[in-house]
Amino acid sequence: KGNILEIKNLQVTFYTEDGIVRALQGVSYEVPDNETLGVVGESGCGKSVTALTVMRLLPKPQARVEGGEIWFKDKETGQEINILEQSEEHMRHIRGNKISMIFQEPMTALNPVYTVGDQIMEAIMVHNPDISKKEARERAIEMLKVVGIPAPEKRVDDYPHQMSGGMRQRVMIAMALSTNPEILIADEPTTALDVTIQAQILDLMNRLQEQFGMSIILITHNLGVVAQNADRIAVMYLGRIVEKAAVRDIFHNPKHPYTEGLLASVPRLDKGGLKEHLPGITGNLPSPYNPPPGCKFHPRCPYAFDRCRVEEPPEVEVSPGHIVCCWLHTKEETNHE
Ligand code: SF4
Ligand code: MG
Repeated sequence: KGNILEIKNLQVTFYTEDGIVRALQGVSYEVPDNETLGVVGESGCGKSVTALTVMRLLPKPQARVEGGEIWFKDKETGQEINILEQSEEHMRHIRGNKISMIFQEPMTALNPVYTVGDQIMEAIMVHNPDISKKEARERAIEMLKVVGIPAPEKRVDDYPHQMSGGMRQRVMIAMALSTNPEILIADEPTTALDVTIQAQILDLMNRLQEQFGMSIILITHNLGVVAQNADRIAVMYLGRIVEKAAVRDIFHNPKHPYTEGLLASVPRLDKGGLKEHLPGITGNLPSPYNPPPGCKFHPRCPYAFDRCRVEEPPEVEVSPGHIVCCWLHTKEETNHE
């Protein structure tokens, strides 16, 4: 089985008035065909920056891509292309058409002065110039129905403020999927919603994934959100991936102390719950302008030892497909045990 997207050693730096932030320091992750990758970490860890780099929507001129590759397998043409080398014109074709993105607060992404129908139609017509207005409207209504909006023939003429937050998120999903993209990037898509609506939206995304056969990148600060909804998980901390594995390995066999800490802060998952001895995460996220040397997690890590404070740990594959970045899990350290 293949990957639709492969990010390799991505490095992004922000040059701001307050200083330099190395936002991504060699991020690598893979998005499998027709599956969901959950990208998890605290705010500021680089998970949104990675997504914006894939979309080629980083703020200019502050953000600079300093290295790395983003390989996208275009199912339509059968070609693999490096997103970072595409012209802006080609990116306009890829963006929204082959790779779509939805955000946490749809109110800011939807235009308040146009009906939701007009906005979905616009998205459809931009990528299908030959389609008539009537056909686009029919397709918009159909998409509203697909995402479970009741009476779509009527709601298509609603303005965003006439809808609830959950309905607006459904509209955003309808818009994102109206062009049948190969990848849907969902950045904290349910964070602003109450728990019941969150579960409905995540269920909907799962169902649509089966129906449309697409890959999803689900970005969240909450490991609980990806438990039911992701096939693989990448855990990020201060611009690096610290652990990457199948969802069951992350939950049942976590290796990185940061992953353990995140798990400890997830409410009970099932009857068995989580092991009581898992330590939570203490301390604050260090300033990204002045990150600690060595392993960036060392000031908060209950297991930190001398080497952690000076040397950055390498990526180690501890079992097939399970990657960890921690001195506790390098062979050298294991041999000392
Ligand atoms: Fe903790 Fe050291 Fe592992 Fe970093 S490398 S997570 S400080 S044990
Ligand atoms: Mg974010």
